[in-house]
Amino acid sequence: MALHGGTPGARADIALRPQLVGEGDVAEVPRYRMPEQGMDAEAAYYVVHDELMLDGNPRLNLATFVTTWMEPQARLLMDECLDRNIVDKDEYPQSAELEERCVRMLADLWRSPEEESPTGCSATGSSEGCMLGGMALLRRWRAGGGSGQPNLVMGANVQVCWEKFCRYWDVEPRMVPVSREHTHLTAEGAVAHCDENTIGVVAILGSTFDGVYEPVKDIADALDELESSRGVDVPIHVDAASGGFIAPFLDPDLEWDFRVRRVHSINASGHKYGHVYPGIGWVVWRDTASLPEDLVFHVDYLGGDMPTFALNFSRPGAQVAAQYFNLIRLGRDGYTRVQQACRDNARWLAEQIAALDPFELVSDGSGIPAFAFRLRDGVDGYSVYDVSEVLRGRGWLVPAYRMPKDIDDMSVLRIVVRTGFSRDLAEILMTDLKRAIEGLEKRGGFAEERPAFHH
Ligand SMILES: *Cc1c(COP(=O)(O)O)cnc(C)c1O
Repeated sequence: MALHGGTPGARADIALRPQLVGEGDVAEVPRYRMPEQGMDAEAAYYVVHDELMLDGNPRLNLATFVTTWMEPQARLLMDECLDRNIVDKDEYPQSAELEERCVRMLADLWRSPEEESPTGCSATGSSEGCMLGGMALLRRWRAGGGSGQPNLVMGANVQVCWEKFCRYWDVEPRMVPVSREHTHLTAEGAVAHCDENTIGVVAILGSTFDGVYEPVKDIADALDELESSRGVDVPIHVDAASGGFIAPFLDPDLEWDFRVRRVHSINASGHKYGHVYPGIGWVVWRDTASLPEDLVFHVDYLGGDMPTFALNFSRPGAQVAAQYFNLIRLGRDGYTRVQQACRDNARWLAEQIAALDPFELVSDGSGIPAFAFRLRDGVDGYSVYDVSEVLRGRGWLVPAYRMPKDIDDMSVLRIVVRTGFSRDLAEILMTDLKRAIEGLEKRGGFAEERPAFHH
């Protein structure tokens, strides 16, 4: 079964440009079957290159959390490492060394109690990191005598990877409803859904819907009370996909990390606010006891032993090198400046938008540098989907979508500010947004709601 359809209305063949076709060369190649004969590398290059021109411009993509700009030196380094497979620890011992250094730096950043040898690894992204974190919770619960139907407690605003985890590993997803006042998980909501079959609570540092931090410390305190009153000991996994690289720099006093005793594991996306191009995530456990030993595989490494925990086998080594580059290139001071600039721009944009008549903020960019806003009640000549559509005409990709179940009567727009999105660009966006609403107010809306947006 193909998970994609083809291009609607496309011809069965791709016609090559005359300049690229010599005497006797093939001039057309099938679109959906492998051609019998190959073609010149230049012709093949342009077939692929030209088609990709119709993708959106990544720098104007305000929908994604994933890095779309790195320094040229990082690109150079990634290019040098494109041929390295991070799983070949024996053949590429220095790549393995850099991965370990990254884990140590992140464990330190997240206040791991294990200073000497923290437990953690890289992954393809936060999704894989979350799977690994979830598997460790499931094993730990079983090892502690759990025997019923396991469940995982989380807010209805979780990222789709947690629904995947539950479906793939046969765990009941216990979604705590959200409300307009609390668009995310609360301590009371979490505790009310826990029982002896709860393998863990997922707390999100930076909800994908509106960028708000979930109250990890409050959730932990409430779970401490649950343990003392009912004897149920429920660990926390913090999904810090975005916030894991924001809070340590911008909110150093916020207790969300291993300072909170109940936090067993943390994941983050190196390719979000770690500022690396797509393909890297991280997960770190509190200590070796939080990662059941029978999940760890042991591979030979320079004649020694290298423990590994991953769903994938082969994976690019370039992202690890780029992550290490960023960590030493920016240092704590540099990350703080870059993240602060992102937050300042997000908050500036949020203020500007709040001052426009038709809009009302759902969040203000003070968590991760992302915020959501909606049309005020009573604005009904056009919808957030229209605003998104009109901005798209200028190249801006600003998604419109419904909030999670129970507040899905509320549709919002969301802007994610990343490195490379300067104040200048933010000002141009504001001009375009104002022009968009002027036009919509005159002409009225036209766009249909788009199918589900995947956060
Ligand atoms: C992005 C995100 C994920 C998934 O991460 P990937 O790195 O894209 O796999 C999971 N949880 C949250 C909160 C996210 O923001």
